Formats: sequence, C-alpha cells, structure tokens
Amino acid sequence: MVFTHDTDVSLQAAAALANTLAISPGSVDELATVAALDAFFAAYDFTGRHDRDRAELDEVRALRIRVRELLTAERDEAVRLANELLAEHSATPQLVRHTTYDWHIHATEPDAPLATRIAVETAMAMVDVIRADELSRLSICDDEGCAGVVVDLSRNRSKRYCSATCTNRNAVAAYRERQASTK
Ligand SMILES: [Zn+2]
Ligand SMILES: [Zn+2]
Repeated sequence: MVFTHDTDVSLQAAAALANTLAISPGSVDELATVAALDAFFAAYDFTGRHDRDRAELDEVRALRIRVRELLTAERDEAVRLANELLAEHSATPQLVRHTTYDWHIHATEPDAPLATRIAVETAMAMVDVIRADELSRLSICDDEGCAGVVVDLSRNRSKRYCSATCTNRNAVAAYRERQASTK
C-alpha cells in the first residue's frame, strides 16, 4: 500500500476507466455497453447508486477523457484539474464506513450519479498523490503501441505496462529476442 487503501483503489479504478478509451492505435472502446460498466462497477468495489442505463453509461463514457487528462498531467496542471472537478461537484469530504470496509473518505452523496462519484473519487485520490509528490507513480505504458495509463503502486516501482496483455506481449517479445541472439 503506497497511499491509503481507498486512494489506491480509486487510482486503479480511474486508470482502468481511462484505459477503456480507444486511444492506442488499433484498440477498441471497451466501455460500450451497460454490461461493461456493470463489470467495472463490480471489479472496483463501487458502492452507492448504479442506474444501469444508457444515460449513466454515457456520462461515465464522457468523463473518461478528463480522468485520463488528470492522471497524465504534470503536477501543477493536475492540481488545476483536481480542484476544478472538486469544485464542479461541490465535493464535501466525509468519513464513511461500509460493512466490509473500514473508515475512508467519500466526498459525494451515495445517491449522486455514478459519473459524479467517479470524478470526485479520482480527484480526491489525486489530492493524495499530489500532496505526497508521487506523480511518478503514474505514467504511460512502456509497450510501443500502447498509450494506456499505468498506476504503479508496487514497492520497488517496477510496473511498466498498463495491463496483463501488454506485460505478456513484451515478455514474449523479450524472450524471442533472447532466443534469436543465442542462435
Ligand atoms: Zn466507500
Ligand atoms: Zn499497455
């Protein structure tokens, strides 16, 4: 754990959300359906309101580019973007506790729209990253053809790729290179 648990989870969720954008050449939009948003909601332990309709999906889809901008910004620009999101949604930090999850911060009401909650959670997580001066934890995937966001929460700062797919592709490529050079 680099930051608090809720911050770590929010950063990973934000990167996963940003990485559903079809930004890398040849990639497809991976948040095209309500079912895809359902899977994202479950994978990152979201709580609170979840409408499961097209309107909610469209709002979350529209938010992605701002999340990506925030995660990939230089520090001072990240401050501006985080402050902007917090002000826009009148964020009010409150400590809350769910049955399975000890005291942590929510800065929106649980019945606020999902896109609003994601926007504010991402901004709140970035507040921690900025204050700790840990923006080096955020980068762009080392894979040649990939523009995915990488959140590196590893102790030894060893994470270079955005996904298992990119990690495996490069492991295979490195293996082939080694094999070729020993022939
Ligand atoms: Zn919570
Ligand atoms: Zn990647």
